[in-house]
This record gives sequence, C-alpha cells and structure tokens, in this order.
Amino acid sequence: MASIFSKIVNGEIPSYRVAEDEKYFAFLDINPLAEGHTLVIPKQEVDYLFNLDQETLSGLVLFAQRVAKAIESVIPCKRIGVAVLGLEVPHAHIHLIPINSESDIDFHKPKLKLNPEQLDAIAQKIATKFE
Ligand code: 5GP
Repeated sequence: MASIFSKIVNGEIPSYRVAEDEKYFAFLDINPLAEGHTLVIPKQEVDYLFNLDQETLSGLVLFAQRVAKAIESVIPCKRIGVAVLGLEVPHAHIHLIPINSESDIDFHKPKLKLNPEQLDAIAQKIATKFE
C-alpha cells in the first residue's frame, strides 16, 4: 500500500507544497514545531533514509539545502534545524525546522496550532523563494 507521503505526492491527499522537482517533494508538516516546519522527501518510496541509494540520498540533501535557503529567507530564525526520525511515517523524510534555540526542536513539545489559511500563506511564501 502506498505511504501517506506517496499519496501526498500523487495529490490523493492534500498538502501545503513548498517545492517539487522530478525526484523530490517538500511540504509543510501538518503538526509543526515551528512556522515553516517542512518535510523533504524523495518521491521514490523507501522507508528508511539510509536505505536510499547514494544518488537519491545525496540529491535529497541538495534539494533540502535549497528548501532550507527558501525557508530561512522568509521565516526569522537563527538556523534551519535538521532532524530525521521516521518513527511515524515509513517513507524517508528530512524535517527542516526553523530554530532559535535547542529547545525549539524538541518533538515532545506541543505542536503549533495553525489554521489552513496560515499554513497556505507560509507555504506560498516559501515556495516563491525556492530556487
Ligand atoms: P516521523 O516519521 O519523522 O517520526 O514523523 C512524521 C511527521 O510527519 C510528523 O512530524 C507528522 O506531523 C508529519 N505528518 C504525518 N502525517 C502527515 C500528513 O498527512 N501530512 C503532513 N503534511 N504531515 C504529516
């Protein structure tokens, strides 16, 4: 069965898309730790990040770099923090999270409550800066 992220890539499930190319896709995390919290995935469905073939993994990191640059240009923050967990969704993904301190990347923290209009506006702002 297709992963929830493959369904997002295929448009079967809606998402707040921020960037896409032939092999990769980036969209806002639905339960964000911070405004601009984005997930970057390969379209190829592989569960574990470190089981990706070398070309796909290195391409994913380079794609994530471009997404991170776009996020940091519109979301005030010290850095874009990077996390890989993969404990919930079995489709490799990298979390990109705007942070100002270590505690901003604590996954036990209550998630932000953003409404669809807010999420849409954030995604669009990031998307316009993606190069
Ligand atoms: P992980 O697999 O890295 O432990 O966590 C999966 C992440 O994906 C979580 O941060 C969760 O909020 C996010 N997530 C789970 N389902 C969906 C979904 O349907 N849409 C979006 N945009 N994010 C999701």
